[in-house]
Amino acid sequence: MARIAILYCKRIKDHSCIACANCHKGIHDKNGEFARHDEIDLVAMTDCGDCPGLIVPRVKLLTDTTKNMGRDIEVLHLGTCMKSAMETAGCPLDYGEVKTMLEKKFGVQVVLGTYSNAKPPA
Ligand code: SF4
Ligand code: SF4
Repeated sequence: MARIAILYCKRIKDHSCIACANCHKGIHDKNGEFARHDEIDLVAMTDCGDCPGLIVPRVKLLTDTTKNMGRDIEVLHLGTCMKSAMETAGCPLDYGEVKTMLEKKFGVQVVLGTYSNAKPPA
């Protein structure tokens, strides 16, 4: 059972994905980057900290809060919304830098992406 948290792009959530239903379905179906886990325990979801890149204080708050509850996060997924923001919408975050920094500072595994709508090959 993997204890995971999801960060979403503060600018996109509830515009492209309503109520994060896509990621909830992704966890249910184990599609996209959720396929790497046998079982998933979704501990928390929150935003990225907003532009221009306030992700470190956000993840500190997130990991402190979940630790205090006795539910440490093992894997932090940066939502498919964040992936799109980085690749196509001028997001100031650099994935390589963010991954290295967060893994070192907070001892979590960082994964880029969450759900996928891609259909498996016929
Ligand atoms: S990709 Fe996932 S985390 Fe991001 S807005 Fe959509 S459902 Fe929410
Ligand atoms: S564009 Fe990037 S930094 Fe800005 S809100 Fe979205 S994910 Fe966060």
